[in-house]
Amino acid sequence: MELSEIYQQHQAPNSKLKVSFEIYPPKDGDISKLFDELRILKRYNPAIVSLTYGANGGTRNFSIELLRLILDLEMSAMPHFTCVCSSKEIIEHYITQIENMGIENILALRGDVPADAEVCNFDFKHANELVEYIKDRTTLSIGVAGYPEGHIESCSLKDDIDYLKRKVDAGASAIFTQLFFENEKFFKYVELVRKAGINLPIIPGIMPIRSVKQIQKMTSMARIEIPKGLTDILINHNDNIKDYGIDYISRQCKELIDSGVSGLHFFTLNHSDLTSKILDNIL
Ligand code: FAD
Repeated sequence: MELSEIYQQHQAPNSKLKVSFEIYPPKDGDISKLFDELRILKRYNPAIVSLTYGANGGTRNFSIELLRLILDLEMSAMPHFTCVCSSKEIIEHYITQIENMGIENILALRGDVPADAEVCNFDFKHANELVEYIKDRTTLSIGVAGYPEGHIESCSLKDDIDYLKRKVDAGASAIFTQLFFENEKFFKYVELVRKAGINLPIIPGIMPIRSVKQIQKMTSMARIEIPKGLTDILINHNDNIKDYGIDYISRQCKELIDSGVSGLHFFTLNHSDLTSKILDNIL
C-alpha cells in the first residue's frame, strides 16, 4: 500500500494509528537475530518496516537481502536511499530492483556528506533532486525527511522548511521526522510546515531510550534539545534508565496521538524490547 493511502486511512472512522519500525543492516551481518526481533514487532501490525541505507553505499547488496527478509515476513518494506556518493546508474539499478520486488515505497534522502566527499560522485546534491529523479522513473511512493528542530546544516528552520517544500513539490507523499523529545517543538514545526502550504502526513520519529550515553550521542550529533524533564531523568536514573525512558516516551507518544498524528515511526535500533513496551502502554 502506498504512503498516501496508508496515512489517509488513519482519517477513516475506527481506523487505527499506523506504526512503522525502522531497522538497519546489522554490522556483523547476522540477520537471524534481526529476524527474531522483527517477528516480535510483527505483533503490532506495522504499516511499514523501513530499512536504513549506508551513505557510502557499502550496504547496498545486503539491503536487498534484508528487504527480502521483511517481505518474507509478510510486512511492507520501505527502503531508505541516500543520493550522496551514488551515481545515477546506481540509483537507477536500485530503484528498478526494488520495484521488481513489488516494493511500493521509498524514503529518499541526501545522506550525510562524508569527510572524504571529494572522492564521491555527486549526480545529486540534495534530496529534492533525488525525489524528482525517482518520481520521473518509477511509480514508487516517496517519503522524505523533516527536522522539527531544523537540520544541523541549516541556518534557520524557515530555510529548512523552504527546502522541504522543494522535496514535496518534486513528488513526495509523506514526511518522516528526525527524533525529538519535546512535543512542543514538533507541534510548532507542523504549524510552520502547514503555513508553508505543505499538507502531507508528518510522521513523528520516536526514539526509545536505551542508555544515557546513546541519547547524549544522538542528540549532540543531530543538534536535538533534551528538555529539562528528560535531563532530570538522565541525571537521576542512570541505573534504571530503560524503565524511566519507557515511561517518558510512552507519555510523549500518548500526547502525539491525542494531537491527531496519523502515525508513529519508531527508530528500533534493531531491538524489539523497548518499542514493544512503549506500544503496550499506548495502544
Ligand atoms: P536534504 O533535504 O537535501 O537537506 C540537507 C540540508 O541541505 C538541509 O540543511 C537542507 O535545509 C539543505 N537543503 C535541502 N535542499 C536544498 C537545496 N536544494 N539547496 C540548498 N540547500 C538545501 N541517513 C543515512 O545515511 N541513511 C539513512 O537511512 C537515513 N535515514 C533517515 C531517516 C529519517 C527519518 C531521517 C530524519 C534522517 C535519516 N538519515 C539517514 C539522515 C539524513 O540522511 C541526514 O540528515 C542528511 O544530512 C540530510 O538528508 P536529507 O534527505 O534531509 O537532505
